[in-house]
Amino acid sequence: MRRSLRLLLPICILFFSIGCTSLGEGELEEIEQYVEDEAQKVLLSQFEKLRQDRETYAAVCAPFDIYDPLEKICYPPETCETVDDCALLGDELAEEIYEWFGDLLTDYAFDGDGDTFDEQVLARYQVEGDDLTQPQFVVVDEQLEPYRDAIVTHMAVWDAFRYLIPKKEREMVSGFTIFTDGDEEMLAQVEPDTKNVANWILGVDVVDAEESYILKTTLLHEYAHLLTLQQSQMDMDEEVLFADAEDPIHQTAAATCPYFQVDGMGCTKETSYLHQFYVQYWEDLIEEWDARDIATNEEEAEAFYEDYEDQFVTDYAVTSPDEDIAEVWTYFILAPRPAGDEIWEQKILFFYQYPEQVKLRAEVLSRLYSYLTLED
Ligand SMILES: [Zn+2]
Repeated sequence: MRRSLRLLLPICILFFSIGCTSLGEGELEEIEQYVEDEAQKVLLSQFEKLRQDRETYAAVCAPFDIYDPLEKICYPPETCETVDDCALLGDELAEEIYEWFGDLLTDYAFDGDGDTFDEQVLARYQVEGDDLTQPQFVVVDEQLEPYRDAIVTHMAVWDAFRYLIPKKEREMVSGFTIFTDGDEEMLAQVEPDTKNVANWILGVDVVDAEESYILKTTLLHEYAHLLTLQQSQMDMDEEVLFADAEDPIHQTAAATCPYFQVDGMGCTKETSYLHQFYVQYWEDLIEEWDARDIATNEEEAEAFYEDYEDQFVTDYAVTSPDEDIAEVWTYFILAPRPAGDEIWEQKILFFYQYPEQVKLRAEVLSRLYSYLTLED
């Protein structure tokens, strides 16, 4: 198993006030303008047509199920019942995927030399069950219009996500946003839905989504945030969420949270994956991590990674405990079960102690395998 070395590349949680976006103060307050009149009609009719085509296809096979035209049957993903069966199936699938498609975790790396600009939202969709609804297309510069109007691509990206993650595991997703900051830099993000902070919006950079393997690993990383920050895992604190970066409420909230406090969001629950992970792997590091300002100082972060390379699955994982657990979960899904000699391997084994995660791994890998096979 190889761990990828790459520059710090945000594939992260979007904080409203602090965190990993390059948005400056005030930019968030800019009012978005949506495409109207004739241009809107054209886009909506394209969207409607694609939606109907999808329904026709869905009547034949679920997306990415393998269709055998001779037998006229669909092969749905493999399933498993007991933890032992699922552990075995997961390992087999991880191996098959590696053998046929290579190491998706190695591809999970950009050189960071892309051509980027300020992040720009192109389209917003509501999510209802499996479906995208109520599209809104943002008025953008002419050179970005083709990306905004690529509804086929938007839907394909959504299909990738909704297929990889079983429906019952992604009920917190209420919206889907297509954005871009150009080539590379930010790949994807999740953010709480301001209309109801128990829900989340998934955002994907449509320019970067062209890299098929990277898209899949990125979607897994983003899902890991949803998994570890959802309502059952963390109490979202709206006052903290909507406060400015300088607001002392961030310190007050952190001081009153008896468990791990997710910066700019809320307090994790005692039995949450993230708090347990923090207790095991971060408590001894956090003081130094704070003092060296790893969250915001890129150079120090690289040095920190070099100092503690045996503890992290990627260099991006040093950014924060919540990014670390997202990277680890992605490795847990895709990598073969490690021996556990080193701390970064033990972090992957952390998720094997949860039967529901062992099952989810098999399910996700099974979906990924049939998806990759169909795409090939
Ligand atoms: Zn992230």
